[in-house]
Amino acid sequence: MNKYVYTFGGGSAEGAASDKNLLGGKGANLAEMCSLGIPVPAGFTVSTECCTAYYADGCKLPPELTDQVLAALKKTETIMGMTYGDAVNPLLLSCRSGARSSMPGMMDTVLNVGLSTVTIPGIIAKTKNPRFVWDSYRRLIMMYADVVMEKAEGLEPALGKGIRKILDEKLDEVKHAKGCKSDTDLGADDLKTLAEAFKELVRQHLGKPFPDDPMAQMWGGIAAVFKSWNGKKAVSYRRIEGIPDEWGTAVNVQAMVFGNMGDSSATGVAFTRDPATGDNKFYGEWLVNAQGEDVVAGIRTPSPINDDTKNEQNKHLVSMQHAMPETYKELDAIRTTLEKRFTDMLDIEFTIQEGKLWMLQCRVGKRTGTAALNMAIDMLDEGLITEKTAVMRVEPKQLDELLYPIIDPKTEKDANLIVKGLPAGPGAACGVLVFTAEDAVASFRAGRKCILLREETNPEDVEGMRAAAGILTARGGMTSHAALVARGWGKCCIVGAGGLHVDAKTKTARITGSDLVLKEGDVVTLNGTRGHVYFGSLPMMDATENPRFQRFMTMADTFRTMGVRTNADTPQDARVARSFGAEGIGLVRTEHMFYGEGSDEPLFYLRKMILSNTAAERKAALSELYPFVKATLKGTLEAMEGLPVTIRLLDPPLHEFVPQGAEKQAELARALGIAPEEIKKRGEDLHETNPMMGHRGVRLGITYPEVSEMQIRAIFEGAAELILAGKKCIPEIMVPVTCDVSEIVVTRKIVDQVHAEILKQFGIAELEYKYGTMIEIPRAALLSDQMAKSCEFFSFGTNDLTQLTFGFSRDDIGGFMNEYLDQKLLAADPFQTIDRDGVGQLIRMSVEKGRATRPGLKIGICGEQGGDPASVDFCYEIGLTYVSCSPFRVPIARLAAAQAAIKAGSKKLHIRPKGAKS
Ligand code: PEP
Ligand code: MG
Repeated sequence: MNKYVYTFGGGSAEGAASDKNLLGGKGANLAEMCSLGIPVPAGFTVSTECCTAYYADGCKLPPELTDQVLAALKKTETIMGMTYGDAVNPLLLSCRSGARSSMPGMMDTVLNVGLSTVTIPGIIAKTKNPRFVWDSYRRLIMMYADVVMEKAEGLEPALGKGIRKILDEKLDEVKHAKGCKSDTDLGADDLKTLAEAFKELVRQHLGKPFPDDPMAQMWGGIAAVFKSWNGKKAVSYRRIEGIPDEWGTAVNVQAMVFGNMGDSSATGVAFTRDPATGDNKFYGEWLVNAQGEDVVAGIRTPSPINDDTKNEQNKHLVSMQHAMPETYKELDAIRTTLEKRFTDMLDIEFTIQEGKLWMLQCRVGKRTGTAALNMAIDMLDEGLITEKTAVMRVEPKQLDELLYPIIDPKTEKDANLIVKGLPAGPGAACGVLVFTAEDAVASFRAGRKCILLREETNPEDVEGMRAAAGILTARGGMTSHAALVARGWGKCCIVGAGGLHVDAKTKTARITGSDLVLKEGDVVTLNGTRGHVYFGSLPMMDATENPRFQRFMTMADTFRTMGVRTNADTPQDARVARSFGAEGIGLVRTEHMFYGEGSDEPLFYLRKMILSNTAAERKAALSELYPFVKATLKGTLEAMEGLPVTIRLLDPPLHEFVPQGAEKQAELARALGIAPEEIKKRGEDLHETNPMMGHRGVRLGITYPEVSEMQIRAIFEGAAELILAGKKCIPEIMVPVTCDVSEIVVTRKIVDQVHAEILKQFGIAELEYKYGTMIEIPRAALLSDQMAKSCEFFSFGTNDLTQLTFGFSRDDIGGFMNEYLDQKLLAADPFQTIDRDGVGQLIRMSVEKGRATRPGLKIGICGEQGGDPASVDFCYEIGLTYVSCSPFRVPIARLAAAQAAIKAGSKKLHIRPKGAKS
């Protein structure tokens, strides 16, 4: 017979934390807490396997479940010393969902199950608290009607016509009629009348009476939780998070304990460390005389659990540490026990019933990137976790957040803190104060960094918020408009700085308890990670200088086996990328020297070359262009100090550089000694219908070998000069957009010839270099065994390879990609994350074929996907030598590569010479 039910309580359990697949996250951790001797209300978990069986049998609970549940219920009754459905000493239950991985708020819960006309008098007699009992009863009716009788039955009332809304309106109506501000102002009789009214409304709107039989309530609750696995919200959440439908949810049926039994009762949620900063401080909120849903729903403002949790908005409220010192101590001890056992930061829920503490839930807590980094390092130093675990604790994407500038911690300690608020957006920002969104935009346009200070923000302020370096509001919480918007942008933001009194008219702000009045134009500095506002300008530090970040990345590197390079086009980019840990350049797009600052002169000579009509004209223009190309490439080689630098020969179609304006055309005509009309005509001759597949890449060198020759000479001559100056450099010459080995052979002849000439010219015996190609056309991937015959390396140009494999123009996907993603026709944008099935198959084949011809062939990737963690994972899996990505994504790629190696169980490398891997 299948076992579907697992009990817990009274210091022992039938499961453990490792049973998440069977018991769901919540059930497994409840079992674990019981075994650790932590007070947990007894109960039982109906397994995820039962959920699967329920769906397999057309939404029917398996017959063997009945006896198992009844036996488990008996055990629960014995441990709790109460009887379910009993008239004198009744036990009440909760039915909660719990999937393998947390799906917050996506599935349903029913509390206070078991209250009926039979049990209510018994509980009233026992508790002598009729108000509490009637309050619990009206909550049960509300939740049960919503979850079991409406949602689980598949009823879909129009927006605002759902039973919960109807009952909520009734509650408001009664409160209003009684002149009550809060639910707690309603008395026992009011709540009793309200419950009766609720039942009548349920009957009217749902066509069935609210069940008065405790057993019917319990079974209804169990089935409703299973049903909620396939509720709309849960299904779409699973799609987004990639959670398989087959997993199913467990149901946790557990003895109810009450936080709303008067002033010695309470309920709360907490994190074992601060989830925003990672500080090793117990952090949480609690509410006296309330049930858990009150904390979550935000109906009442929760109080801090201790001094460490106080902020501007709640500092006047009484903490649990002061109100219930003994229970707080007990909770704090549980915090330590749990962290030791789970070796991670946990998010916990607790209830205090008449002075007795009960733990209702624990799970690994969500955290910001900063917190993830700080906790990983702290827990490593505390001996809680190993280096490997520490490296796995930060998601590569979270590093993004850490790459923002921070205030130099040394200076921050002694800085002039003027007010505190809630830490809503990461990093630090410094600027002049402005009080309106328009002023923020004007300040931005004038090139002045500003901090936008508002009472609170609304959607009209968005433009100003974007323009500001940081956002500060006096009101609002972590989910206010400003906080949501700023977090989405990764912008530094502090909200709810209650000590500020903003006067938008005079553009000033007073500060509680201080003589200082902030005015427009004053400089302030925000620490958005801590919620601190300082007067004046504080020195900022780059993430690369943050010692903890450095230590973490160095540690991650010890596990990494795949190289990480960067795509950099200028010596400046190259230096930035090196500071982020790039071990070489995987792609220099030579043509970028013709865009942007300082490009006027080289661009002019390039245009001359493009619009030349004869080989002689072209040669003359090329020799004028030559010194610029050489200087740029030499500078980049020099900046990388001996690390490999892959220089790609000119790639884009030439018409991209043809001058468009009459003035530029006339200037060029003068230089070439021809009429402006002729320039226009020659430009028009270069027009192509489909330039992406036209005269570009290697094809330019096939038709104009002198263009390739000039570039190759610039590379070798620059390298030779560096070598003679005693410097090391390793150029790698890369040919783009190839589709056949013959193209590589033809170009190689020029490389060999120029190389020999340069050795002779400079009188040097050796000039190390490598020669290879990009693989960005499907034919090249298919014929990689042949391509490898003439190449020492491959680099996957996955931008073009994706374009040509899908037949999606990379420049025109804006018109349809969102539809593909919204309609789930594609799981991800293949230009961001490698499409493993199609493009990935070509890459995998190319690697195998290339290395079959040339074992040890060096292979990298330089398309945009090279900095995407999921793609890095794929690159590791298929054995690439390195990934290459833009400078700011280098740390993300390093961490993703380290984690890929750890997941694959690779051994730690103790000694890894610099640049050895690539
Ligand atoms: C590519 O195609 O992936 C690539 C790196 O080259 P580009 O983006 O310059 O075409
Ligand atoms: Mg390309």
